[in-house]
Amino acid sequence: MSDPTIQQAKTEVAAGPARSLRATSLKSWASSPAVRRVMQGNRSRDTKPEIAVRCAVHGMGMRYRVSARPLPGVRRTADLVFRRAKVAVFIDGCFWHGCPKHHAPPKTNAGYWASKIDGNRVRDRHTTALLKAAGWTVLRFWSHEDPLWVAGRIVDVIRRRNALCCRSIGRKYFIGKIDQPSRHRSLSG
Ligand SMILES: [Zn+2]
Repeated sequence: MSDPTIQQAKTEVAAGPARSLRATSLKSWASSPAVRRVMQGNRSRDTKPEIAVRCAVHGMGMRYRVSARPLPGVRRTADLVFRRAKVAVFIDGCFWHGCPKHHAPPKTNAGYWASKIDGNRVRDRHTTALLKAAGWTVLRFWSHEDPLWVAGRIVDVIRRRNALCCRSIGRKYFIGKIDQPSRHRSLSG
């Protein structure tokens, strides 16, 4: 609280973009690092639905990292991260991520908010693509979805992924003949 930059940023966020937009551009309003930190904090960490899902998943015996980066060096944070199973879970807020059922665009600065939410959705798709390309399973849920149902889906996927891990680690669990050298390889090599 003592950080004056953060305090000012909070005031700016509370005031919305209108005040700053009069004097300066949209880009500079959103690009102040302090403002961005506050906005990201507001929208992505420790929301009620997220905590409810976390508690339920924890109650089902699963352990995970909270608000962590699945890929080192890539600045994308998932709400729950299961490293061993390589599963990243996102609980997307209905407002910030543009839920088709509940997102109601604010009437003031409609253009600003539309491009903001669009940007978030583009970023979400890009994050999903990055993680998938790195071999991760990505689960996205809306914050309006029932936490117990969401937790059940997550636990199902983790169990299936962990079972696959066991199979590939323990040779006796191999399915098929993965280890057989390919004939094509021996012919060409
Ligand atoms: Zn919703």
